[in-house]
Amino acid sequence: MSSSENWNLALLYSGLTDARLHLHLEEAQTRADVFARAYSGRVASLEPSAALAMLNELYAISILANRPVWFARLSFDLDTGNADTKALLSKLQGLQAKVQNTQTFAWLELAALPDNVFAVWSAEEVLQEYWQSLAEARKYLPYQRSELEEQVLRQKNLTGVQAWTQLYGEITSGIKIPFVLDGAEQLLTVDQVRALRTRADRSIRQAATVALFAAFEQHEHVLTYIFNTVYQDFKLEILELRGFPSPIERTVMNDGITAADVQMLFAATQNHVGVLQEFFRVKAKVLGVEDFSSFDIVAPLEAVDEAIDFTTGKALVLDAFGRFDTEVQALAADFFQGRIDVAPRVGKRGGAYCWGTSPEDPAFILLNYNQRLDDVFTLAHELGHGVHHELSRVQIAANAGHTTSLAETASIFAEMLLADVLLETATPVQKRELLAGLLEKAAGTLFRQVQITRWELLAHAERGQGVVSSQRYCELWLQTLQETYGNAVQFTEGDKWGWISVPHVINYRFYCYSYAFGMLLVLALYRQYKTIGATAFAPAFKQFLASGNKASPQQLLAAMGVNTQDPAFWNSGFAVIQGWLEQFKATLVE
Ligand SMILES: [Zn+2]
Repeated sequence: MSSSENWNLALLYSGLTDARLHLHLEEAQTRADVFARAYSGRVASLEPSAALAMLNELYAISILANRPVWFARLSFDLDTGNADTKALLSKLQGLQAKVQNTQTFAWLELAALPDNVFAVWSAEEVLQEYWQSLAEARKYLPYQRSELEEQVLRQKNLTGVQAWTQLYGEITSGIKIPFVLDGAEQLLTVDQVRALRTRADRSIRQAATVALFAAFEQHEHVLTYIFNTVYQDFKLEILELRGFPSPIERTVMNDGITAADVQMLFAATQNHVGVLQEFFRVKAKVLGVEDFSSFDIVAPLEAVDEAIDFTTGKALVLDAFGRFDTEVQALAADFFQGRIDVAPRVGKRGGAYCWGTSPEDPAFILLNYNQRLDDVFTLAHELGHGVHHELSRVQIAANAGHTTSLAETASIFAEMLLADVLLETATPVQKRELLAGLLEKAAGTLFRQVQITRWELLAHAERGQGVVSSQRYCELWLQTLQETYGNAVQFTEGDKWGWISVPHVINYRFYCYSYAFGMLLVLALYRQYKTIGATAFAPAFKQFLASGNKASPQQLLAAMGVNTQDPAFWNSGFAVIQGWLEQFKATLVE
């Protein structure tokens, strides 16, 4: 079969008029109705063998109801302007929602399974495969409140926390910043001004940074009010009403790790800020600036912007995978048989993703390949997700997903494999650019996300004592900046408003650490690979990826010899960054 750069969605359904799209949803609804009659109100009373049949049917119906919607969604993403596809998608989604509603009782009854029933089920060999997902569903039980309380909370949140975060979004996305560019004053959005910080012209970068924070400062009063309200609401709901032991606890529980793991990550990061600071000192020399400033952090070193056509990019990535493991390479190569859509087109959805929905179906990858080096890294990243999905298809549906904390493991690891190959053949100038790119990724994905989360912890703790002034939030922000960047970076007067400009700290509270966790985890695993070699590492890594959600992240990592409570493990990730820094410095004397 020849290779293709377009999706062949006929692997799922023959087309948008395929009668099976509706037939599958009708069948799912019929089975869901039978299911509800058989099990509603009876889940906790089932014998283990009956429970197994119930669980198998629950997941089978979900997959059946999901596949048509997934197909319509993929079709829509290729042609977002097509009204017929859009109408079909929304119709199928409506039918799927009905099926899901019919099944809701089962998820609720499973989450509320009495301890004695759970103990009996857990001990049964036939239910072993479902143990982890049942335990997952139950772990929120101690923090759930009565039906009535939950209802009131949901209703009040609409006019409470959700309304406030929406107001934050409306104010900040409405910000227009007057900016003189190419001799003319223009009105730019926040994202457009942020992008100017990667310009080669230092005065533009500086002016963009000053303008950005000045724009946020203008809304200081209302935005601070929103922070105080949302954080107070968070404290009342999470700590007082639900009884979580600390503000970050619900997020880490979602991610399948513990607050102690996060503390370990923070401590290791704080111990290595010296590496980051040294990178910025060296970068200052390369840029020829004495007062390296916040607006120089993502400044480009020099312009190497060669186009990399897709054939070359694909060959680079498959070569990188092949050097690691031939099975991984073969799984990635298989996507080119109609499961990757490469070129940007009018009407096609932007960005990139890899989307698989169940172990019964293969995943599909969407790209918008633009011939830049970044696009080659994106290809490696999405193929990494793809390989992860394909390997975990050996699991039953309940275990085939990935916990948030591990979801980016294969994808970032794939980027590391690509970097290895590129570094080998790069010219000195390309090499310097590549290494600076890797170090900047560590700065943005690891150090900055830890700094943001440390600020959140301080801010929530102070809010717990009473209303916090905007100047106090600024002081805490400057304190965490100082603890991260030391005197390697000078900050503008406006940088203290950084906290007010990060949407995640208001919308998703305590989410940012997970980027840092994911990246450092991969670096530590990558270090292990470099130390013991592919022959020893690849089989264990594939086993880890193939395990899906079958066990907790700690258990899966333990099987690879990783202990997230051991500082040495986290430190080994920083050794990789240190290695990049040494190589980066070496390119300067060559
Ligand atoms: Zn990803």
